[in-house]
Amino acid sequence: MIPPSFDYYVPNSVSDAIGMLKQHGSEAKILSGGMSLIPLMKLRLASPAYLIDINRIAGLDHIKEEDGFLKIGALVREADLEKSALIRSKYPLLLDTTLVIADPLVRNRATIGGNLAHGDPANDHPATMLALETEIAVVGPQGERKIPVTSFFTDLFTTALSPDEILTEIRIPIPPPGSGGAYLKLERKVGDFATAGVAVQLTVGKDDVCERVGIGLTNVGLTPVKAEKADEALRGKKIDGESIKRAAQLAAQESEPTADLRGSEEYKRDLVRVLTVRALKRALERSRGGK
Ligand SMILES: Cc1cc2nc3c(=O)[nH]c(=O)nc-3n(C[C@H](O)[C@H](O)[C@H](O)COP(=O)(O)OP(=O)(O)OC[C@H]3O[C@@H](n4cnc5c(N)ncnc54)[C@H](O)[C@@H]3O)c2cc1C
Repeated sequence: MIPPSFDYYVPNSVSDAIGMLKQHGSEAKILSGGMSLIPLMKLRLASPAYLIDINRIAGLDHIKEEDGFLKIGALVREADLEKSALIRSKYPLLLDTTLVIADPLVRNRATIGGNLAHGDPANDHPATMLALETEIAVVGPQGERKIPVTSFFTDLFTTALSPDEILTEIRIPIPPPGSGGAYLKLERKVGDFATAGVAVQLTVGKDDVCERVGIGLTNVGLTPVKAEKADEALRGKKIDGESIKRAAQLAAQESEPTADLRGSEEYKRDLVRVLTVRALKRALERSRGGK
């Protein structure tokens, strides 16, 4: 289908884009990669009267470590993450995640900012950002505010972003030595959204004691889920077969899937359990220097 007509703006700065958002309120939408928004417009599920294309704003496409954070600009494409030497060498959880998003054509356009701002619980980055305890920087008419990712996803396709704010940067605390992460997703075919996905990031100390852990779940709730009880069960404990099994059971209990063409509620819960065991084991191996 063809989308309804709209006015198209191309601001050169974040402040110009915010001015346009302020002027047009809920009738305006930011356009980043367009990989979620354009299909919705073609299906006429979204009909913004004004599209504000932020692709030509400079300074939103960086990937760098600074002040204790890995900082990723909102316009960084999945393909940029995949090719980044920094991500490939130090952030296996992020690399795992980007590699299973859609297909290469989509990944050439889709941005990390759009993936989060869209608020889709089936998207893969939200669970990963929950596991990494990321901070999300947004800018609006009042300036910048930082939103902990745990407060960012408020409902189905709904985030803490106000209509006149733009997501500008993702800030991930640089993991200390002894850290490892992994993302595992089951999809019906390559390029599909997850039947379920599990993101794990952990830091392991002496005798395999878990110093820090974050577990995020994809597509098993109205919002991406942080498996807090599973995290709690591991924190301060030795990571071994028993504690992994217990944490995985808790993660499955914390998930809230609904039945659909991808499977029943029970199947998806059990999938969360199995993927959590595997992701924890892989993250543990990686914390010891494994691939
Ligand atoms: C065939 C196909 C398969 C896909 N499979 C997957 C998958 O397996 N996993 C996955 O995670 N995703 C998948 N996606 C979604 C894809 O990753 C999207 O690109 C992503 O969800 C949105 O990013 P975008 O840059 O394209 O955003 P857009 O489509 O441009 O925007 C999406 C929404 O976010 C808002 N927005 C965008 N950027 C900002 C910003 N900086 N500040 C404020 N609001 C903003 C827009 O106004 C819009 O409401 C798939 C998409 C397609 C077409």
